[in-house]
Amino acid sequence: MRRKFIVGNWKMNGSRDSIHEAKGIAEAAKNYPSVDVALCPPFTLVAGFAFALPEFSIGGQDCHVKPSGAFTGSVSAAMLADARAKLVIVGHSERREGLGETNDEIKAKCEAALTEGLRVIVCVGEPLSVREEGKAIDYVLAQVAGSLPYALLKDPSQVAIAYEPIWAIGTGLTPSSDDIAAMHGAIRAALGDAGEVMAILYGGSVNGDNASEILHLPDVDGALVGGASLTADKFVPIIAAAA
Ligand code: PEP
Repeated sequence: MRRKFIVGNWKMNGSRDSIHEAKGIAEAAKNYPSVDVALCPPFTLVAGFAFALPEFSIGGQDCHVKPSGAFTGSVSAAMLADARAKLVIVGHSERREGLGETNDEIKAKCEAALTEGLRVIVCVGEPLSVREEGKAIDYVLAQVAGSLPYALLKDPSQVAIAYEPIWAIGTGLTPSSDDIAAMHGAIRAALGDAGEVMAILYGGSVNGDNASEILHLPDVDGALVGGASLTADKFVPIIAAAA
């Protein structure tokens, strides 16, 4: 039985003062015990939030493939685990597109994270041009096949896929409900037995108004939320919609 999973991605937003939003979210999440809730703030806030909220899930937004070494500016999965993170996002389109991350790198990051005992959210999603060509499902299934380390899927419940059409991120646009359900169904089918326990999240302009419809579509197990996860007043209604 898959639980609903709602994850906030704060991207490069937030300061130490934002702990009051994180506390508000963590406190409200206790009212929805059927929903797993997590927040992924910037690296600078991970340890502070995780130590302040030991019962709540705090995660990173990326990790390096190696546990340590001469990689200036990078943070490893081992370091995130040491900071009491419980999960990490890998392969966000802002890193795939903006920083040229490949499926192979994302697969290696996924392996590193699982080795450190972190739950991993692997992001996939097509650009608008691919959607318009009618090739979105093929494109996304190739990303799924290329980014998941099947050899390490001993416990597939530790891996979640986030389907995030690039053109829907931060734009206020969302695919039709039929298109979301078709994509999630195709991903589920491609995952085979692992798909029975792997959560498939939708991401891209989820908010308190559209969450209920999206979260009740077939094969949608939760949401990865950017802008609407920054404050408790916007994020908590999305958690409530999943319950
Ligand atoms: C995201 O960046 O993962 C995202 C889904 O952003 P937004 O909710 O702001 O579209």
